[in-house]
Amino acid sequence: MSPPRSVAVVGAGLAAVSACDALRAQGYDGELVLYSAERGLPYDRPPLSKDVLLGEARRDDVLLRPERWYEEQRVDLRDGTPVRAIRPHEGGVERADGVVAGADRVVLATGGTPRTLPVPGGDDPAVHVLRTWQDAERLRERLLPRSRVTVVGAGLIGAETAAVAVALGCRVTLVDPVPVPLAAVVGDEIAGVLHRRHTAEGIEVITAGVERVEHRPGATEVLVHLAGDGVGDGRVVAADTVVAGIGIRPVTGLAEAAGLRVDNGVVVHPGQRTSHPNVFAVGDVARLDGHRVRHEHWDAAQLGGAAAAHGILGRPLPPAGATWFWSDRHGCRLEAVGTMADAERTVLRGAPDSGAFTVLGLSGDRLVAAAAVDRARDIKAARRIIDRDVPVDPALLADEGTDLRTVLKRSDTAPDAARGRTHR
Ligand SMILES: Cc1cc2nc3c(=O)[nH]c(=O)nc-3n(C[C@H](O)[C@H](O)[C@H](O)COP(=O)(O)OP(=O)(O)OC[C@H]3O[C@@H](n4cnc5c(N)ncnc54)[C@H](O)[C@@H]3O)c2cc1C
Repeated sequence: MSPPRSVAVVGAGLAAVSACDALRAQGYDGELVLYSAERGLPYDRPPLSKDVLLGEARRDDVLLRPERWYEEQRVDLRDGTPVRAIRPHEGGVERADGVVAGADRVVLATGGTPRTLPVPGGDDPAVHVLRTWQDAERLRERLLPRSRVTVVGAGLIGAETAAVAVALGCRVTLVDPVPVPLAAVVGDEIAGVLHRRHTAEGIEVITAGVERVEHRPGATEVLVHLAGDGVGDGRVVAADTVVAGIGIRPVTGLAEAAGLRVDNGVVVHPGQRTSHPNVFAVGDVARLDGHRVRHEHWDAAQLGGAAAAHGILGRPLPPAGATWFWSDRHGCRLEAVGTMADAERTVLRGAPDSGAFTVLGLSGDRLVAAAAVDRARDIKAARRIIDRDVPVDPALLADEGTDLRTVLKRSDTAPDAARGRTHR
């Protein structure tokens, strides 16, 4: 296939900007247009539920790139310009204003949109979500000391939002039907410690589903009716502000309309290739074929953007590594690498009571996952061990006296160290 002379990137979040960055870094010299439905310079999302909500960061502090970068890299940013259709067969994209622009390759980086509560009243505008700068600004204004805030969903964003709200002096209720949220992702021990921390910080934690949301016209108060199904006790929680943090839906409309393969995201193959040879998909909207889940994390968006550049330019792909994410709450940091669901057994390093500890997940003699609270060094080393795919000794891993970095050094001298990895 001939090299592209024009690339259109649809969506201007991290995955999109990362794709543009990597295209230029790999020597792509052609036209590069970045279409953003949002106005202004593209920004990073993780700070929205942390420093931005706390009122400690302004928009300029969270930009993905400074303004001059777009000029220097010849990235033609069209902000406030949504794309309404992609036309891969004709080689172009159609903007919402009807203008059709040519593009040899299209990168879909349309991200995700927050799920609304699937119950009566769940889509009431009084129920906040947190995805965009505007969402964060709107919510921040509501987090006043002593105000009653109910957060539905105690996963990553819900937990972070509840933690910020209680730090700002709000009276916070956190509702989730799952007794220990995140256990499937980071294991029972870590998930349990983190969830109990909410209560210790003064958050009222309720295990229940939501049955309906009641917001009478003109009323400031919102009533959250909890299910009385045995899990929940049917109580009604009155709040000044309700936030739903129950996950996202991938924004796949453009891909579907163009006839691409879509199944819980735009299905991609190594190099972020979709079912159309001229279209690539990256970030939260994409799901790698053969993987059950989409990795809706910062690092996956960043790496996916870079992988798409390789795919577009037909370059050999860098080896795929273990997935990684972090989350901050109540002054501590959760980090996880790999997939805990792949682990046959776990090894604990450190004492959960101490507040800083690591859980390592093993399958056979290989490390496949790790999760930790405030143990960045362990996670960094674990990630390298997983990526190198070397055999490990569980007793050595469990020994607090062992610096995990030395495990890799030992394996370097071992004769049977296997290092084959698949490509992203
Ligand atoms: C509040 C919050 C906190 C987070 N915290 C963490 C964290 O602590 N750790 C972590 O690992 N991950 C975190 N994440 C996840 C991480 O930020 C996302 O995985 C990442 O931002 C995804 O990037 P993306 O480029 O795929 O999508 P997005 O950032 O969603 O960007 C997609 C963009 O495409 C635009 N768009 C959609 N349709 C069109 C169209 N038709 N035309 C033009 N533009 C369009 C959208 O407006 C949007 O700007 C957080 C996410 C949020 C929302």
